[in-house]
Amino acid sequence: MVDINVEDSPFEASPVAPETFDENHVIKFRCYKGIECFNACCNSIDITLTPYDILRLKNHLGITSTEFLKKYTIPFEFNKGSIAGVKLLPQEGSTACQFVTEEGCSVYADRPTACRYYPVGLLSLRRADENFDRSSWALVQEDHCMGHNEDREITIKDYRKEQGLEEYDEHGHAWRQLVLKMKSAGPSIGQPSLASRQLFFMACYDLDRFREFVKSEGFQGTFKLTEDELNRLYEDDMALMKFSDRFIRQVMFGEVSIDVHDDAVEKHIQRRKEAEALRKEAEAD
Ligand code: SF4
Ligand code: SF4
Repeated sequence: MVDINVEDSPFEASPVAPETFDENHVIKFRCYKGIECFNACCNSIDITLTPYDILRLKNHLGITSTEFLKKYTIPFEFNKGSIAGVKLLPQEGSTACQFVTEEGCSVYADRPTACRYYPVGLLSLRRADENFDRSSWALVQEDHCMGHNEDREITIKDYRKEQGLEEYDEHGHAWRQLVLKMKSAGPSIGQPSLASRQLFFMACYDLDRFREFVKSEGFQGTFKLTEDELNRLYEDDMALMKFSDRFIRQVMFGEVSIDVHDDAVEKHIQRRKEAEALRKEAEAD
């Protein structure tokens, strides 16, 4: 299964640009249990996950985002030294998805965006002179996929509806924009520090760890949130995911939307001094 969900140029290694379509384009495709190639796509995967994909999958499996990332994903860099994304980690010694069974996908109701889209690919493109991204779609035609020979015509718009993609695209949009913004940014933002990259990773993909961070003295000593706002972030994954986007924009791009305490900088310096003193004390013992 080829993932062309996030790249601004999906076939970077290829000099041939893919043919792209708008959502009224009609494709000929059907996939169903019993088709000759059933599961072939899930036996060779390359699937980038959005933060919303991770949220849905970790809740489906009843585990934390930290456990999910460890067991089911592998990180990769969008550009060398830049922010990371995560892909589904195949079964050990194989290219097959860990969720594939003889009956099909074992997490079907919460399958990732790229699986829902296949064989269509969403291309998010940003022109150098624009500060927003445009969506268009491409069709992936792999030899093993027999669905293209089926006698069903459907517009990309209806296919997206059928696959539940309107919701997935809506909740994946902010992250997709962040990635494009990062990829199209100048060298100062394009090469973020290790600490920024770690913060990006935690806030985007490891929501349960991000929640602990939000609960920490360091966070609350810096950012000014009401008790109601904090309680929502403690209890509501979706609220936390939306907040993580604002947080990243503020700390990495200076797009301020969260109030900070007047003495945040002094407190931060004080905490660092205390941590340094503790470290020295421990070394001396
Ligand atoms: S998550 Fe499901 S649909 Fe996607 S590759 Fe794995 S088994 Fe296939
Ligand atoms: S028709 Fe294509 S998408 Fe469906 S199971 Fe076969 S290879 Fe996978």
